[in-house]
Amino acid sequence: MGHSSDLSRNRAAGGAGSTGDTVLGHQGLRLEEDLLFELDSPGQSGVDLPAIPAVESRLGGLERRTEIGLPGLSEPEVVRHYTRLSQKNYAIDMGTYPLGSCTMKHNPRLNEKMARLPGFASLHPLQPAETTQGALALIEATAQWLKTLTGMPAVAMSPAAGAHGELCGMMAIRAALDAREDGTTSRRRVLVPESAHGTNPATAAVCGFTVDPIPANEAGRVDVDAFKAKLGDDVASVMLTNPNTCGLFEPDMIEIARLIHEAGGYFYCDGANFNAIVGRVRPGDLGIDCMHINLHKTFSTPHGGGGPGAGPVVLSEALAPFAPRPWIVHDDSGFALVENEADTGDAAPIGRLKAFHGQMGMFVRTYAYMLSHGKDGLAQVSGDAVLNANYVMARLQDLMTPSFAGPCMHECLFDDRFLDGTDVTTLDFAKAMIDEGYHPMTMYFPLVVHGAMLIEPTETESKRGLDDFIAVMRRLAENAKAGKAERFAAAPQLTPRRRLDETTAARKPVLRWTPEGLEAEAAE
Ligand SMILES: *Cc1c(COP(=O)(O)O)cnc(C)c1O
Repeated sequence: MGHSSDLSRNRAAGGAGSTGDTVLGHQGLRLEEDLLFELDSPGQSGVDLPAIPAVESRLGGLERRTEIGLPGLSEPEVVRHYTRLSQKNYAIDMGTYPLGSCTMKHNPRLNEKMARLPGFASLHPLQPAETTQGALALIEATAQWLKTLTGMPAVAMSPAAGAHGELCGMMAIRAALDAREDGTTSRRRVLVPESAHGTNPATAAVCGFTVDPIPANEAGRVDVDAFKAKLGDDVASVMLTNPNTCGLFEPDMIEIARLIHEAGGYFYCDGANFNAIVGRVRPGDLGIDCMHINLHKTFSTPHGGGGPGAGPVVLSEALAPFAPRPWIVHDDSGFALVENEADTGDAAPIGRLKAFHGQMGMFVRTYAYMLSHGKDGLAQVSGDAVLNANYVMARLQDLMTPSFAGPCMHECLFDDRFLDGTDVTTLDFAKAMIDEGYHPMTMYFPLVVHGAMLIEPTETESKRGLDDFIAVMRRLAENAKAGKAERFAAAPQLTPRRRLDETTAARKPVLRWTPEGLEAEAAE
């Protein structure tokens, strides 16, 4: 049977309760689920434990005097609770996940299988190195791939996320400046484009730098003249994302690298968008000094709830001596870890960024991904990611408004001009996508265009998947233009919670459940 993006097929599948045109994608969000504590049947348990033997307390009177307050549930109740919660969660395994800048690509099951090999899964980080030679060899091989793919001489493997990698890189830059003998430690200004991911200025600020924004030009790229005008002997670094967060390649990287080095600063590249160029462009050839790589983006390891992230940082010769401990060394007797200050020789590590050696499970998945694709396969990954994003843009640009002319890289950026006069906002449009079974695209980011909608399909979507997504986006845009603003204002209708007060949730999070009656007390 041939495939078509026939909306009636999808409407029929929607059945009663479907308010949208389609139920493509996943709509498991309709379940209402109480907290475990609300499901409590006091005294109930899924296991029989022997009575606790009497022991002499050694807690000096500090032992708990009240009930611990764990909820009582049977095993099937617990299993159902967590299975139901998992159904409420939109996931890459359930449908297209077009969240721009996040590279929500499929997590290959081969990676999962490798990470579960007992030799990797059962490792303990405190095992003596002679019993972990295979794991150290894998970390070293993964590091070698990262250096080769980026064209950089050194890599710090331990950072646990992109933002953590930024911290590592900016701490190394600060350490390198402080180690200079020419008294340039007054360099405390960091240049960051207006379109940057929020973690860039946040990291610079955490490291004690002040942030000076660089404006974008008409074409959505760094304005090199404006950048030049901001250089001075108090500039520590420029932090640039390439491709940038508008989904566009920065063509002036080499010139920017030359200028920042001439001015005595370092070039930090945010490599979160490496997926668009992996296997094709080596950032080291463009003159950068350091770059973090999000293994959970480019190298397909799971994000967030699927496991911890990992953000290795590649470093130039100038910054390599400041790489954090530990690192792996290799000689005829095998692999060893340099962990202690006393063993670091001429290097001047910024310290440790993490207990132990990094996210081992992510390294295994990354290495499996690298080996299964090979260098040519990784070049195809970036090519397909760019092709998919351009396909989406080409099929939507007559109805929606792309922010910049010309082809994009791995994500396509629209703004809200196409909604002018419709009473529908970017937020309304995103919420209506939920009713259609899609996770919304990234919205209101980057800040450089009005009402941004940033769509990143990744290379793992098939043409069929893209066509379904495009059909829904087209129908929504047509609905908005046809004056059906109420439909958007009411969305999402197929979720137990509708429009949440996200500002209050972020500013005053309620992180702890308290039994009724104790709430007022807890609020004190
Ligand atoms: C995802 C991302 C980051 C932060 O990475 P995390 O792993 O989420 O900490 C930084 N910059 C850009 C451009 C990103 O897309």
